[in-house]
Amino acid sequence: MTWTPPLAERVRNLKPSVTLAIDAKAKAMKAEGVDIVNLSVGEPDFDTPQHIKDAAHKAIDDGFTKYTAVGGIIELKGAIIDKIKNNYQIHYKQEEIMVSTGGKQAIYNILQAIVDPEDEVIIPVPYWVSYPPMVELAGGKPVFVQTDPETNFALDVGKIGEALTAHTRAIILNSPSNPTGSVFTKEQLRDVAELAVMHGFIIISDDIYDAVRYDGCMYENVLSVYPEAKEHTVLINGVSKTYAMTGWRIGYAAGPASIIKAATKIQGQSTSNPNSIAQKAAVAAYTGEQGCVTEMVTAFAERRAYVLKRLAAIAGVTCVEPAGAFYVFPDISSYFDKKTPGGKVIDGSLALADYLLESARIAAVPGVAFGDDRFIRFSYAASLETLKKGMDRFEEALGMLIKS
Ligand SMILES: *Cc1c(COP(=O)(O)O)cnc(C)c1O
Repeated sequence: MTWTPPLAERVRNLKPSVTLAIDAKAKAMKAEGVDIVNLSVGEPDFDTPQHIKDAAHKAIDDGFTKYTAVGGIIELKGAIIDKIKNNYQIHYKQEEIMVSTGGKQAIYNILQAIVDPEDEVIIPVPYWVSYPPMVELAGGKPVFVQTDPETNFALDVGKIGEALTAHTRAIILNSPSNPTGSVFTKEQLRDVAELAVMHGFIIISDDIYDAVRYDGCMYENVLSVYPEAKEHTVLINGVSKTYAMTGWRIGYAAGPASIIKAATKIQGQSTSNPNSIAQKAAVAAYTGEQGCVTEMVTAFAERRAYVLKRLAAIAGVTCVEPAGAFYVFPDISSYFDKKTPGGKVIDGSLALADYLLESARIAAVPGVAFGDDRFIRFSYAASLETLKKGMDRFEEALGMLIKS
């Protein structure tokens, strides 16, 4: 008799990350020698700037290789406090900051600290893939509020109001957004903040793409437009996207001392401090010259313009112009119900993404992973040459679909 080790219910019900799955499949095909254009990845294609690497080397040489304070070293928390003050004119104290192993872990620990079973967390759709599973792992229930391309994916405060119940614990905002690239307006942010203060729920403001903005779009988050909501808000950020440091794993939460203390307690009983060397590197990122960020954003802007131009020329594809981040999220639903040359019906974004990967050798993430099947996500954190090849293949593959 074979024995199957039992798994916990929480993991049996847990959905794996579709983005990581597609990336893994694309990498496997590439390893087999297939010429894949991978536009599925959610990370800058640039190398980490040299002065940041130097700080890490120095940390190793100096023997900065031991456990640190669970919530991060004072020096890094100080750099984070200064950064938030400069960008948003909001003042935090050391006890209001927790440094974690990436922004992702900061969000996870915050949700573990504030969500009880049966609590509800409002998540605007399209959403970052990890928000709903993280809410569920905390025992909570994600409550979805739709946003649409017609309004530039604007938050509809009326709809959020209707979604509120006695169990509402929090809302998660992500601006600029992954996957849409949209930025919420001052008015939308203020309206949500007022609602949070009035009804007593927490805003988790995931600002991870805040430095990647175009067309002179300024730093702005829920607290810069409505500072009165500070005790109702937890800001999330990190070095991954801004400084091309995804593998270093440093992110943080800034919020009310009671929540930060609770989340740090969870961190202390699970992962302990984030990597000591990476913390030193993050200090260099935040306090060093910021020209590297401008350079990367300028490159992203050029690529954004190119991809938008290409998408605009494809019949049946519409795309909202992203104001930030490095993704386009075109509506491809006019191709649904068509057939591939092999006779397979494209019945949704997953079928289209599969077709693109297998027939056109281009990796993209189906919209269904973000809660909206009408779309597909391409990352333009890739060279112009790669983007050209990707868009050529995308256009050709769509053109080969047959009306059924
Ligand atoms: C990349 C990303 C994060 C966090 O990334 P870390 O590498 O864990 O800091 C958080 N939110 C969104 C929307 C992201 O795209």
